[in-house]
Amino acid sequence: MGVSFDKLDGVIWFDGKLVPWQEANVHVLTHGLHYASCVFEGERAYDGTVFRSTEHSLRLKASANILDFEIPYSVAEIDAAKQLVVDRNDLPNAYLRPVAWRGSEMLGVAASNNFIHLAIAAWDWPSYFDPAVKLRGIRMDLADYRRPDPRTAPALAKASGLYMICTISKHRAERKGYTDAMMLDWEGRVAECTAANIFFAQDGKLHTPIADCFLPGITRATVIELAGRRGIEVVERRIMPEELAGFSECFITGTAAEVTPVAEIAQWRFKPGAICEVLMTDFAAEVQPKGRQAAA
Ligand code: PMP
Repeated sequence: MGVSFDKLDGVIWFDGKLVPWQEANVHVLTHGLHYASCVFEGERAYDGTVFRSTEHSLRLKASANILDFEIPYSVAEIDAAKQLVVDRNDLPNAYLRPVAWRGSEMLGVAASNNFIHLAIAAWDWPSYFDPAVKLRGIRMDLADYRRPDPRTAPALAKASGLYMICTISKHRAERKGYTDAMMLDWEGRVAECTAANIFFAQDGKLHTPIADCFLPGITRATVIELAGRRGIEVVERRIMPEELAGFSECFITGTAAEVTPVAEIAQWRFKPGAICEVLMTDFAAEVQPKGRQAAA
């Protein structure tokens, strides 16, 4: 195990100020900790620039609104704070973790007047782009838990509470030797993975589940755009697990996963090939600040 996250060095943006890493603490009687009134983002900086920063800031604010709270900073302020964290810590290639939560003023189910905190941390996380290695594909299990009905939980928010079933599912998968687990939705249709969206390829077209009961990823949207530029049709539709036997390629998308080919999901097998490769390559170019300028 590496150094524990609370023991790293650097500065963390905390409620409007940069504070030394090890002093960015909260009290044990924090509403966010007890009642999961907490939302967050996962983002990456490539070559000193945060990829799709404003989209992530907008999603953070929207997630908070779904949980009935307002982050007391504008999207522009959050974007600036993220860039400051990257610059001051000298982390051109980093993972960023903005997190917002209700404080300690009231500790019961109702806490409408609690102070809303926002912190932004970042740590070194270069992107390892080796197509030969990635094209071997990861192995995934099928999770027991299903993504909840949007009438049961705030399914479209990036809210901490929704990750409870993801952590349990990922641990179970890892104990069986898998990298991750694919999750079905409340109606038994293919949904996503524990922290990434999923795509399948068949006859030159991509198929991906409609994102109405799980997080519509920013990487997912980027890949749909990139596929469009290549003339690859993307069909967003309901996908039943039995259909997996008919797909040739599969990959997952997410800020952390980027575009990661999949070789195996439970009893189903895939052969990462031309579609995985072209989208991995296009994504790697797109995230570079110069790639983004060239495309604009
Ligand atoms: N689904 C879940 C549950 C996630 O945690 C993530 C990672 N944020 C994604 C999908 C992919 O989202 P994005 O591409 O915006 O990182």
